[in-house]
Amino acid sequence: MKATVSIRSVSKAYGATKVLDNVSLDIGAGEFLTLLGPSGSGKTTLLMVLAGFTRASSGSIKVTGVELLTMPPHQRDIGMVFQNYALFPHMSVAENVGYPLKLRGVEARERRRRVDAMLDVVQLAGYGERRIGALSGGQRQRVALARALVFEPRILLLDEPLSALDKQLRDRMQIEIRRLHERFGTTTINVTHDQQEALTMSDRIAIVNGGTLAQVGTPEEVYRRPRNRFVAQFMGETCMVPLRRDAHAAWFGDTRVALTPGRAGEMGEPGELWMALRPESLRIVETADDDSLCFDAVVKDHAYRGDAQIVYAGLADGHEVKVLMPPEPAASRGRRFAPGDRVKLGLPREDLVLVGEAA
Ligand code: ADP
Ligand code: MG
Repeated sequence: MKATVSIRSVSKAYGATKVLDNVSLDIGAGEFLTLLGPSGSGKTTLLMVLAGFTRASSGSIKVTGVELLTMPPHQRDIGMVFQNYALFPHMSVAENVGYPLKLRGVEARERRRRVDAMLDVVQLAGYGERRIGALSGGQRQRVALARALVFEPRILLLDEPLSALDKQLRDRMQIEIRRLHERFGTTTINVTHDQQEALTMSDRIAIVNGGTLAQVGTPEEVYRRPRNRFVAQFMGETCMVPLRRDAHAAWFGDTRVALTPGRAGEMGEPGELWMALRPESLRIVETADDDSLCFDAVVKDHAYRGDAQIVYAGLADGHEVKVLMPPEPAASRGRRFAPGDRVKLGLPREDLVLVGEAA
């Protein structure tokens, strides 16, 4: 039942503009994969090619071994939630949700049964007769999900399903969509430009940049081991600091940024090397120790945020980094940071991320 999706060398051009450039990606049975990338990177286009509303210029997509691209959209057995939901405003909630069943010739009584069951799942029991216009954003979002899942498709496509919701509702719907996924086990391809959402929801993330895949991996892999500058910059609040290189090492000022064997491969590449500094990996430390790299810095600003304290600090080369620290760490209880303070920043060596321009 659970479909696998095998995307091979899919390209799409509009005139001379390549929107998808030789994309290959395998999605496992029952997997929840997120396409994450900036606006205009080609995410929607890839979903539209999968759904059959856009024709690929070249390539192949197989679903459980069968070529999809030659099939008309209605035979593809794919449920989709569009970015703006694309609900039918003149129909009731129940008519919207029942629409895919009607298309598939399911008779009225069975249709009603399945629509009711589905409305129950998305916590809209009793809303069947409502008009779409009388629903909140979150409720519309649930109707769209119900309509995409009611015919138990082999594949579910979600195009920025949460982008129209406010932050609180978005957080809750992330969990709800995950629960729906666990319940139905539908192979799901989700699209977002929000990295937090991708990290929270996905089994794996494919990072899209200019119509190509910059990296594919688990949330932890793409966050902790970005393959190139684009991914490191895109995931998290990252300050990219260029390093100076010689034949054996990379340097930040006078600090030798030693390379562990696993990362030494990057040294072989020509071109520049960057160190990715993230707020949660940096600490303000009293003294240097062997397990951390240590940099001199000057405090620029300090903010208390309740659950954390934030220090903005300037490095010797002029870069400004953000340091996220526990609200009152025992070590610095009572300590206030003021602009102009000279401090030492520690970066545990295990959190060191070095990247080049290309993968
Ligand atoms: P995303 O969903 O990642 O924001 P899209 O897939 O919607 O990106 O668009 C990728 C690129 O393709 C954009 O530069 C967009 O302008 C272009 N594009 C999308 N659809 C068309 C079209 N029908 N004709 C011409 N260009 C298009
Ligand atoms: Mg889009």
